[in-house]
Parts: sequence; structure tokens; C-alpha cells
Amino acid sequence: MEQLDYIIVGQGLAGSLLDFSFRKNGLHGVVIDNGHKNAASKVAAGMINPITGRKYVKSWMIDELLPRAIEIYGQLSKLVGVELFAERNIVRALYSRAEENEWEIKTTLEQTKKFRVDKPVLNEYSKFIKPSLSYGELTKGYHVHVPVIIRAYRAFLEKYKFIVETQFNHSKLKIENDGFVYDLVKAKQVFFCDGYKVNQNPFFNDINHQPSKGEALIIKVQDFEPNKILKQKLNFVPFGQGVFWVGAGYEWEFENEKPTKGERDRIEKILKDNLSKPYKVIDHIAAVRPTVIDRRPYIGAHKIHSNMFLFNGFGTKGASLIPYWSEHLMRHICFKEPLASEVFPYR
Ligand SMILES: Cc1cc2nc3c(=O)[nH]c(=O)nc-3n(C[C@H](O)[C@H](O)[C@H](O)COP(=O)(O)OP(=O)(O)OC[C@H]3O[C@@H](n4cnc5c(N)ncnc54)[C@H](O)[C@@H]3O)c2cc1C
Repeated sequence: MEQLDYIIVGQGLAGSLLDFSFRKNGLHGVVIDNGHKNAASKVAAGMINPITGRKYVKSWMIDELLPRAIEIYGQLSKLVGVELFAERNIVRALYSRAEENEWEIKTTLEQTKKFRVDKPVLNEYSKFIKPSLSYGELTKGYHVHVPVIIRAYRAFLEKYKFIVETQFNHSKLKIENDGFVYDLVKAKQVFFCDGYKVNQNPFFNDINHQPSKGEALIIKVQDFEPNKILKQKLNFVPFGQGVFWVGAGYEWEFENEKPTKGERDRIEKILKDNLSKPYKVIDHIAAVRPTVIDRRPYIGAHKIHSNMFLFNGFGTKGASLIPYWSEHLMRHICFKEPLASEVFPYR
């Protein structure tokens, strides 16, 4: 029987970066994933936005998260030979005087002003986007190519036979005194990075999740290549060569993970109202985010099985949160550093 340090269940962004962190530190393990059947990571726009929400609040821990994200996505880019992230300014439409005032107040605070661009510039968008009352602009935003990361990291794992493509069956996991046995593998630790499907995971389904579905269109617009991300009713995230990711809403009640006509119609209506240039829909994608009510991830050991861990709950912000927290969990496992209490799963 093969003896390993760990089994990771799920190869979305969380499972990929946790595995990367472990391998860099000399651990050996296997990843089990069902072929990205339920991966939010294959649909994510991959924005990192330092100031978010209707109240323009500085993103939780962004000063700590950004340097880690830049470092780790840089290392991964070298590993797979593809540039996996890019800095992108974010231009945000403001629709009323009240919003303008709020933006002024919130983006001139001591802790936020480094993200603010004093004179917002729409550049190419100004030619084809219906003008809003005014705009605010942020620097130090990023676009992370999340779907590319999970495809490229899977290819890396496959090359070395570090991944098994199958549905993980929890009832087949044998819990022993010194670890776990699953099929032909024995491992000291198990890490669940199963995204919103944690709600069907008998070991952690008592933890409070509020999954939210999101849908987006991938569109192509001829001769239109702005560099910035635009938030105007929808997020317009440029992928280059006239291709944009546009979306997404939040659906709290849904039948399944599939794209729906209703959401497509809604997005297309907003597009037609805001974009004065013809576009072609290349794809319509949907997935469910592993969202948590208090918007903090869930990272920690099972209440009975101390070598079984949850690494989940990255909600709408996996691109910025996962690099930092995968290193944090790795340091707990490899160097016995304590885990932060604010991400404790049983809170
Ligand atoms: C429309 C949309 C837009 C988004 N935009 C952004 C954005 O701009 N910025 C941002 O930071 N975040 C964004 N997100 C959120 C982001 O996608 C998530 O935070 C992140 O991808 C979560 O990664 P994960 O690895 O935890 O989960 P997932 O990506 O869902 O991965 C879980 C993996 O586990 C597998 N799995 C589950 N159960 C089993 C099992 N029993 N056996 C085998 N495999 C299993 C799944 O198939 C999947 O491959 C967006 C999400 C959506 C849906």
C-alpha cells in the first residue's frame, strides 16, 4: 500500500494551491477530483478588488493577501510556463450624488487612499459604454486566470500521477489510529477542498454554508480591447483579443448548477442597455460559490478526527484569499504554527 503524507479532495483553486504549498515544502500526497464537475474555479472571473461592495469597504486583510497572491501566482506561472495573473485597474460606475459622496469619503481614508486613482479614465470604454453619472477608479486590482490555473495545475499533477480522477466516496474512507486508508492509499492527513459540495460531505456538513450560484457570459466584441476591468451593472473583465467575461448575479435558491435562460436574458438585457457595439456570445457558464454568511473561510481540523481538515468557504474571493490561507495551513501542518481563530470552522 502506498504511504503518503496527505490526500486532498477537490482540485479547484483551493485544492490546487494547498497541494502546491505542501509539495514546495517536501510533503507527498495525492489529489482526488471528479473532473471539476462542480468547480466554481472553472467559472470564476478571477478579479481581485481591493475595495468592494455597495459601501466601498476595504477588502478584509487585503494588505496581507495581495503580496502573498502576487508571490504564489508568480511561482505557479513559472511552474506551468503561462502568465497566470495581471494587474488591472478597476473602474466603477457611480449612479447618484449619494454614491459619489460615499466613494469620495471611503476612498480618501488613510487606509484606502493608496488604492484610489484621483482622475478616473475610461479609455476605450468611453467609445462604446453608455456613460454613467460618473466613475471611480482603483489601482492594485488584479485579474487571476483561475480556470487556466486549474487546467494547467491538473496537467502538472497528471504528468507525475499525483491526481486520481474519480468521485471521492466518503463511506470508503477508513479512519485508523495513525491516519486514513482510501482504496490503495494510506495517508497521515486528509484535506477537504470540495467547494460547495461540502454540504454533501458527512464529516463537515454540520458547518454553516450559504452557497450562491453565479452565471456569466463570455462574449467577443470586434476591435474593442480595453485593459481595465469595468463594473457597470455587470463586471466586464477583459480576457484580451476582444473577449470579455461578463456577469454575474447571486442566486441563493437554485435547482442545479446549470446555466439558465432567465439569467442569460437578464445579462443580455443589461449588455444591450450599456454596450453600444455588437457582440457575440461565445459561452454561457454557471457554478456555485462556496459562500459563508460571515465571509470568512473555514480552515481547521474536524472536531473528532484531528488529522482531517477543512479548507473551504472562500466564497466570492477565492482568488485573493486562497494563496495566503494555503500557506497558513501549510505552516500549521509543517511547522506546527497555530491556525488563526477567525477561520475556525466551528464558530
Ligand atoms: C460566477 C462566479 C464568478 C466568480 N468570480 C470570482 C472573482 O472574480 N474573484 C474571486 O476571487 N472569486 C470569484 N468566484 C469565486 C471563486 O470561484 C471561488 O472562491 C473559488 O473558485 C473556490 O475554489 P474551491 O477550490 O474552494 O472550490 P471549487 O472551485 O468549487 O472546487 C472544488 C472541487 O472539488 C470537486 N469535488 C467536490 N466534491 C467532490 C467529491 N466528492 N469527489 C471528488 N471531487 C469533488 C469539485 O468538482 C471541484 O473540482 C466566482 C465564482 C463564480 C461562480
